[in-house]
Formats: sequence, C-alpha cells, structure tokens
Amino acid sequence: MQVLTTVIVLGLCIGAFVYTDIKGYKERKIKSSVAIADVIGSTSISALQFLDNESAIKILANLEQVEPDIVNAVLMDNKGNVFARYTREGYKPYKFSFPQVDKGYNLTPEYLYITNTIRTEKETVGAICLQVELGQLEVIREQNFQIAIILLIVGIGLAFLIAILNQQYISQPILYLVNVMRRIRESENYQQHVEVKGKDEIGTLSNEFNNLMEEVVRSHQKKDEFIGVASHELKTPLTSIKAYLQLLEKVEKEMPNVMYVQKAHENVEKLQQLIFDLLDVSKIQAGQLQLNIKAFNLSELISQCIMDAQLSTTKHTIINRSKEEDQMIFADRNRIEQVVVNLLSNAIKYSPHGKEVIVNTVKEDSKIVISVHDNGLGIPKPDQKKIFERFYRAQERPFGISGFGLGLYICSEIIKRHRGKIWVESDASTGTTFYFSLPVNPRQ
Ligand code: ADP
Repeated sequence: MQVLTTVIVLGLCIGAFVYTDIKGYKERKIKSSVAIADVIGSTSISALQFLDNESAIKILANLEQVEPDIVNAVLMDNKGNVFARYTREGYKPYKFSFPQVDKGYNLTPEYLYITNTIRTEKETVGAICLQVELGQLEVIREQNFQIAIILLIVGIGLAFLIAILNQQYISQPILYLVNVMRRIRESENYQQHVEVKGKDEIGTLSNEFNNLMEEVVRSHQKKDEFIGVASHELKTPLTSIKAYLQLLEKVEKEMPNVMYVQKAHENVEKLQQLIFDLLDVSKIQAGQLQLNIKAFNLSELISQCIMDAQLSTTKHTIINRSKEEDQMIFADRNRIEQVVVNLLSNAIKYSPHGKEVIVNTVKEDSKIVISVHDNGLGIPKPDQKKIFERFYRAQERPFGISGFGLGLYICSEIIKRHRGKIWVESDASTGTTFYFSLPVNPRQ
C-alpha cells in the first residue's frame, strides 16, 4: 500500500515537473523567436521599401548563426509575394501564406511557426514568417524520462525501506498484540500479559491492555467471591425451609394444602441444587475442589443412579447396556455420582418426547468409558465446543427447559480432576451421547 502510494505520488510529481518543463521550453522558444522576427522585421523595412532584395537575403542568411533552430524564414512584400527566403541546409522550403494578424504563432509537435507583419507608421510593407524546429523538445523529453526512471527507482526503494521499518516497528507489534488478544479471548485466560517493549505508543498501548486485563481478572474474582458468599449465605436458610417443608408434608393431610407444600418442596429442591452448583463453581474457581479418592463399585453406582433417574420419569425408559459387572474403580464416589446423575437428568430434560436413554460402560485397558445416550433434541455443532463452559447454554432449545449452564462445567472439572476426559457426540437426528473416561486407578 505504502509502495503504491509512493509510486502514485511520485508519478504525479514527475508528470507535473515534465509538463512545466516542456511548457517553459515552449514559452521561451516563442519569446525568443518572436524577438528575432521583430528584429528581422525592423531591419528589413528599408530593403522592402527600396526593393533591395540583396540586403534582405543577407539579413536572412545571418539567421544560421543567430538561431540554428530556424529552418525556414521568408520575407514577403505587402502583396504576399516572396521577397527573400532562407532555408537551412537539408530542409525543404516551407510555403507560408501572408499573415492575417499583426503577430501570430502556431505550435505543432515538431515546429513553431511565427508570422508577423512588417509595418511602418503609415502602412504594412511586408511580412516575416519563421519555421522554428523544436529539436530540443525531444532531448528534454528524453532527459525527463531518464530523471523520472531514476526518481521512481529511488522512490520505490525508499518506500520499501520505510515499509520494512514500519513493519518492524509498528505493524509487527500491533499484530503481536492482536494475536495475544485473540488467544486471551479464545482461552478466556485473562491472566495472560502482553510483553511491553519500549515506551513509545505501542508500549503504552500494551501497558494499558495489561492494566485492562488485570481489571477484568479483578472483576471476575469479585464476581466469583460474590457468588461464593451469596450461595453460602443462602444455603443455611434454605436447608431450614426445606426441613420445615418436610415436616409440613408429614402433618398436612388436606387437599389442596398437600399439593401446595409439595410444589414448594419441589421448588426448594431446585433452588438448593442451584446453590450446590454455585458453591461447587466457587470451589473450582478457588482451586479448592477436594476429591476423596477411594475404591468403590462403579457398576453398582451406575445401577443405583439409573434406578433413581427412572423414578423421576415415566416418559423415558433408561436401559443399562453395561457388560462390565462389579467394575471397581478408584475415584471420588460422590463426585462421580454427581456426574452420572447430571448426564442422566440432562438426557431426560433434553428429550422432552421421551423414548430410551441408554447407559453403557466399556473397559479399555486401564480406563473405563461411560456413556449416556438419548434420542432427544441434539446439540448444534457450534454449541458442542462451548457447552462445557461456565453458564453456557445451547442457543437453540425449546422454551421452558430451565437451567443455568453449570452442570456440564462442573462435570468436566470433576472428570479433569480425576485425570479423565469428557466429550460429546450429537446430531439432531440421532440424539446426543455424552462420554467420560476415567482411569481405573488415577494414582498409577
Ligand atoms: P443446563 O442444563 O442447566 O442448562 P448444563 O451445563 O447441564 O446446563 O448443559 C449445558 C447446555 O448443554 C444445556 O443448556 C443444553 O443446551 C446442552 N445440553 C446438555 N445436555 C444435553 C442433552 N442431553 N441434549 C441436548 N442438549 C444438551
């Protein structure tokens, strides 16, 4: 871009320079030729009046020394007849007609024509006509062309040099900054810093960017702290409300009071689940998610989770396809239960038309892969990468399916802490399968 601009600007400058140079040459030539014609005119008056042809020829012959560019000069009497003529050697005589105006000139690409009448105070006694070769014009054009080429080469060279310096000192640091920003945005790791090089504008920009990132990190921490404190403060009164509702459920026998208590209980359970999730998120953020690793029977745990989930739905049939029996594993039983329960409740929640939910367990060398498949709504491809992020919910989902986008985030953190993996395969036509793998013994 810079080189192109330089070429355009240089081209325009050279064009303007060449134009004024050629114009100046032509103007100088017209001025000097008109002056010569005036001198010839005034010195030829007496020769024309006394019909002294010889003196007239002599006057014209002097032109060879005075101005070698004059190739034809014709002195005419007042009737337009040629009185004397000079033609430079090697040139053809030029036929002039008697001028209509006192002083006139005409320019062609190769010649300048001067046509002046010769007057005394009383009358017109004749005319002088000159044909002047513009031979210098070609030389000027050639010189200008050479200068233009040299200027262009030097100009483009300089523009390249400046562009390289520009690239090194401005574009590269800006591109580096853009790359770091993109990396930060994609990884959501706002702790990253940009290296500050120098104290110039780029340095200031990098510094300000780092300050901004520190501010973002601080406000994230404040938000996480708030979530942690608020959830903690809500947990105690909610546990108490739940206990009173359980008491009420036992004593209340009359309708519709029984139904009201039941509804209140259900909603308190939802609220309590949200608070547990938020507390887990705070623990994860603070790096305080503790695992209580012990050996337990995974097959038994999965069967138990399936039985509990089946109690919550009549539209779905939950099938256990696991071939492994009494599969033992070293892991945090409660946390793995939390993952299985979450995947099962999602499978039920996001397949509103019912059908089967299939759970499978496959042992592969030193790890176990557990999968939960449903025939539900499926997850669009762009969302699949993001559903394990905090507070992320897929964009397309039917109205009325509630949630906060925390379950899968917590599941993925639990699995990561067990040095396992969690992933999803989904398609609107075949439904969704969530997989997670766990090492049989994470300490090995
Ligand atoms: P929540 O269900 O509370 O929104 P999750 O973290 O459990 O939060 O799930 C995140 C998102 O992933 C959900 O909002 C939903 O869009 C999508 N999702 C999870 N499980 C399924 C599933 N089995 N089928 C379709 N979409 C699902």
